[in-house]
Amino acid sequence: MNTDWSEPAELSVCIGAHLWLNFRSQMKRTSREPAVVFHNGTVVLPDKLLPDAVVVCEGGCITRVGRTRKLPQGATLVDAKGGYIAPGFVDIHVHGGDGADFMDGTVAAVRTACRAHARHGTTTIFPTTTTGSPEQLGAMLAACVELQRGGTAADGARVAGVHFYGPYFAPDKVGCHSQAGRRDPDAREYRRHFDTGIIRIATCAAELPGAEAFYREATRRGCLVTCGHSNATWSEMARAFRAGMRHVDHFWCAMSSVASLRQRFGTPMQASMEQFVLANAEMSTEVIADGCHLAPELLEFAYRQLGPRRLCLVTDANRALDMPPGRYRFGCASDGEWIESDGRVGFVPGGGALASSVVGLDTMVRHMKSATTASLPEVIRMASLTPADRAGVAEEVGSLAPGKRADVLVLNQRLRVKRVFLAGEEVSLATD
Ligand SMILES: [Zn+2]
Ligand SMILES: [Zn+2]
Repeated sequence: MNTDWSEPAELSVCIGAHLWLNFRSQMKRTSREPAVVFHNGTVVLPDKLLPDAVVVCEGGCITRVGRTRKLPQGATLVDAKGGYIAPGFVDIHVHGGDGADFMDGTVAAVRTACRAHARHGTTTIFPTTTTGSPEQLGAMLAACVELQRGGTAADGARVAGVHFYGPYFAPDKVGCHSQAGRRDPDAREYRRHFDTGIIRIATCAAELPGAEAFYREATRRGCLVTCGHSNATWSEMARAFRAGMRHVDHFWCAMSSVASLRQRFGTPMQASMEQFVLANAEMSTEVIADGCHLAPELLEFAYRQLGPRRLCLVTDANRALDMPPGRYRFGCASDGEWIESDGRVGFVPGGGALASSVVGLDTMVRHMKSATTASLPEVIRMASLTPADRAGVAEEVGSLAPGKRADVLVLNQRLRVKRVFLAGEEVSLATD
């Protein structure tokens, strides 16, 4: 096999396709910069494992994936030591980490959380809003725009867009979020938020007045449109679907069931969000596979019913990730609801209700692999290509393919994250 991996034409196509790359930092990186070659590992592709293969990266992009006998001269070698060479993870539902919640609304907080998740293998992140005032949401969006503009590997997981999640939750499905910060969709408010240009995923409960107009606006803006924190019926979901809704947040958590709709409407019993998602091939969803939210049989059921192209792994992690057990605010540091972490999961103080996860996507990947019959390529796909595809960024990230950003993980055989590369640059795994 020849060494055709420094082909300049291929490289320029690669950079041209990546609109969010920071060109100022890329300008300094030329094709004369040594290639980074990952070797001595099994490459994880979306549909198969490629034993003893290499991934070659140049100028921040992947330029070659495959078997090889000879490594390019002068390349920087990254030895996977017999483990796995996998794509960086993509998290479409995540609230914070390392003491910071994205709703804190500062660049420093967004950066802290993005750095924490990068240490767990997440290289593409969609910071997720929760309930709060319009001003708090505005500050969060502005901070994400700012970090996206200047992002480097030292800033952690790359912000690909914001998941506008709260505040349009159903009053009876607010969960651990601040009830005071919940409201029905208001077009004047959400148009202003959409105008920032950073929202790529948009959630609203389908039964709220104004939900359909919200879904239509979000669809027009090119978002993945999702229904969450909702007690919607099948017919409300069908209306939402016609308005562009295609995804449901954290399956089985804060969503309707046949039993919850029986409480709302009596008999005859009605189909819920669950049946709507399972019955419609265009619908996708996500699971919090931390071992605390859902029992193994539910993870297996979701995998078998939906398959790896319609099911995403998300962390839904709050600021207690990588922090000691204790009390933390969910949402803005000034007035978010108090939650507790025991180091394994978040929960509402004094009660049994869970309040999102406190672990990274690497834990979700390991748990999904051990708890279900999904193959390793399928599990990794649910944490990378599938969320990237649903969020509309799969041309840039989500798998190890020539032309994509060089977001590459080295995992050991037990799927522990050993090294993380973002656009070809190594991310430090040391905590601050
Ligand atoms: Zn939630
Ligand atoms: Zn959440």
